[in-house]
Amino acid sequence: MFFIACLQLASAQNVIPSYIRTSGKLPQLAYSTGEDRLGSAKMGYIDTMVVMKILDTVSNLYKVQLSSSHYAFIEKNYTQAVPDTLLSTTICENWRVKGGDLYDSISIALAGRVPYKSWMEIDPSRIKVELYNVQSNTNWITQLTSAKAVKNVWYEQTESDVLLITIELVKQQHYGYSIGYNGRSLQLLVRRLPSIPDIRKMTIAIDAGHGGTNMGASGVTSGVLEKNYTLLFAKELQKILKKQKIKVLMVRDGDTTIENKDRVLWGQQNNPDLFISFHLNSSGRNTVRGVSTYYKHVAYRSFTQSILKRLLEIKNLEEFGNVGSFNFTPIQPTEYPSCLVEVAFLSNEQDEKMILDPKFRTKVANQVFLGIKDWIKQWK
Ligand SMILES: [Zn+2]
Repeated sequence: MFFIACLQLASAQNVIPSYIRTSGKLPQLAYSTGEDRLGSAKMGYIDTMVVMKILDTVSNLYKVQLSSSHYAFIEKNYTQAVPDTLLSTTICENWRVKGGDLYDSISIALAGRVPYKSWMEIDPSRIKVELYNVQSNTNWITQLTSAKAVKNVWYEQTESDVLLITIELVKQQHYGYSIGYNGRSLQLLVRRLPSIPDIRKMTIAIDAGHGGTNMGASGVTSGVLEKNYTLLFAKELQKILKKQKIKVLMVRDGDTTIENKDRVLWGQQNNPDLFISFHLNSSGRNTVRGVSTYYKHVAYRSFTQSILKRLLEIKNLEEFGNVGSFNFTPIQPTEYPSCLVEVAFLSNEQDEKMILDPKFRTKVANQVFLGIKDWIKQWK
């Protein structure tokens, strides 16, 4: 008995590596193991080749160490075992901030790739980055006058192995940023808000929810499928925007299956100025009805509020609300402002009747268009 137990323990330990590095397309750190419809609360995407120590394994996740007092969870599928390594604290070196054609770039030299988390703040508008397992040897930060979106950058070593980076923006409205490694340097590209707000110069991505084998909800009396109707709303908006000579990118324009993660990869590749996702809601209680808009990042809340405000002008369309910190994959990217529109409830009879009406669909698309225009006008 004793020997068997020992052997089992030994073999179990062999399977769990001590260190991993991030790999695959779009590895992501999460705060918890929480499993609900939307998955565990996302901390953010992280680049590949970032080495972390494994603290524990929980079903399909590793609990990984970010710094001496921070940890996160990552799906095992997005990791590769690395040979045992002594992970010493990484030195952060010098930084450079400069402007390009459409972006400002911030380049932070590091002795190796370390885990990070980033987020946006409003009033004042700032991007914050927390770098883990890092000690500062940043003895200078060069900021060039070509930088137009970034007003100022600085850092504080908030814990002995955590660096908090603050990027203060010139404009109040965030317009997106990307973060990732260029070799061993962490690089942020901050998108400039256009100096003249003009919707005709923008590229707008429209995402029809579900599709193919993913049907979504179904109509309470008609049995119609959400996937077909999200596409109809998307196509209505496409028509309106094209008439205005605005460049439109459709995530899908047929009945195709697209994983939510692939919608993020698509967005990051196509780099739209705005991203709008159409869905139809459903509830276990058939009295629940109304329109709602959703954002993940607080910096994009105003965008979703402008669209909701216009949608609420539609007769008989009730308010379900404006919902934030929404843990829904297609609106996770920080690269561009995004808005999820849950037009109405397929599980409610009155809402369903409206959804089935082509005039309502045109109206919804038109109000979304007006909402985008309103939002652009209020940029500061
Ligand atoms: Zn849906």
